[in-house]
Amino acid sequence: MTQPAHANPPRTLITDIQTLLPMTGSREQPGSAIQNAALLIEGGVIAWVGHAEAPPPEAEGAASIRLPGHLVLPGLVNTHHHLYQTLTRCLATDSGLFDWLKTLYPVWMRLTPEGAYLSAAVGLAELALSGCTTSSDHLYLYPNGVDLGDTIRAAADIGLRFHATRGSMSRGESQGGLPPDAAVEREAHILKDSERLVRQYHDASRHAMTRVALAPCSPFSVTADLMRESATLARSLGVMLHTHLAETEDEDAYCLATVGMRPLDYAESLGWVGKDVWFAHGVHFSPTDARRLGQCDCGVAHCPSSNMRLGSGIAPIRELLSQGVRVGLGVDGSASNDGSHLLAEVRQALLVSRLRRPQQHLKAWEALWLATRGGASVLNRDDIGQLAPGMSADLIGLDLNRLEYSGATHDPAAAVVLCAVRGVDFSMVNGRAVVQEGRLITLDLPPLLERHRAESRRMIRDEEGRPSSSFGRL
Ligand code: ZN
Repeated sequence: MTQPAHANPPRTLITDIQTLLPMTGSREQPGSAIQNAALLIEGGVIAWVGHAEAPPPEAEGAASIRLPGHLVLPGLVNTHHHLYQTLTRCLATDSGLFDWLKTLYPVWMRLTPEGAYLSAAVGLAELALSGCTTSSDHLYLYPNGVDLGDTIRAAADIGLRFHATRGSMSRGESQGGLPPDAAVEREAHILKDSERLVRQYHDASRHAMTRVALAPCSPFSVTADLMRESATLARSLGVMLHTHLAETEDEDAYCLATVGMRPLDYAESLGWVGKDVWFAHGVHFSPTDARRLGQCDCGVAHCPSSNMRLGSGIAPIRELLSQGVRVGLGVDGSASNDGSHLLAEVRQALLVSRLRRPQQHLKAWEALWLATRGGASVLNRDDIGQLAPGMSADLIGLDLNRLEYSGATHDPAAAVVLCAVRGVDFSMVNGRAVVQEGRLITLDLPPLLERHRAESRRMIRDEEGRPSSSFGRL
């Protein structure tokens, strides 16, 4: 392991919490909230949860953090992202997926190692301020010496728990794929680099801050061979598998035309089903697909904002849940959202579910459950997503006395989902404070943003070097 260790204070008592939602119940049955609550944290792990008036003897002498007027929840889990895309927001703003990708591939080919670090730090800062404490990332372009380790370094600096995925593209235009040939890598190199990264960074232990998964990008950008060999390698190394699947009707048509199967049938034919597999999107999973996914115990990352931005459709979340499919939320890449606001994604998940038939409605509680317990389950983690003794100390606090919650404090869980979306006031990951009083405390944002803006301007330029805009040339 090469990641830096986080210094955890030995013992911290978080106390005077107005309402604590431990999320220890089931998706159908909310667990009870605790009023005037407190938590004792030892070495990054929750040691005790209870009433603030009766702390355990071990709380004596612990460092104290008071959160009066706050709602405290488990930290949110983001199950799908492309952090590098924070450098290229608001491009191809009127395009569907395939045209959007074809516009962006040449811009993304200008990504550098410095850009990979800066983009990851910016995206993870946005995530932290919007309630995320664990994020996955899918990096599938490696031009100019970019390395997955650049993003892992950023996650360590921001202080979020991180599931990096070694993405890949190997099927260029000349082989019938969507990306330009210059954007794809040789398969032997992809597999060798994947193994190196798992050995260098993946931590399988409980409370791990860094894990690595393998993630060939999509049916239209990798070969069947790479999908098969990635699955074999991942299973030999004991890591998870991730890819995009059933995102658009174009993808359905592509799979039928090239391999004569719909996306899930194709994935299954390559060995890509099981508890170690999670798919991003799943917008076009059929009722039969949903049943199969449940039987195979696959996970799905639901990305409602991206699916609306690209006009991809509405994923059948209720059908998936009713078949026992594990579902979490994802903000998806910042070029198709175009933000990394995870609490906003919780609200979108709730609202878009209401556009499907009435019986497809998600409840506010369920939307929060997807973002916490659901996300933890999709990433195969039993140490995050709820606040109970033995769980990682990953939690967020929201000040219920703020303007937008006034009049809604009788139902704090509904308030954070339904009222105007804002960020969190407090967050802690692995026992270490990351956000305090609504501000990121682990990294100085203004100099980071200055470098990020400069890098973005360098990447987004037309052939004459002038910036382009949806309002015409600037
Ligand atoms: Zn994606």
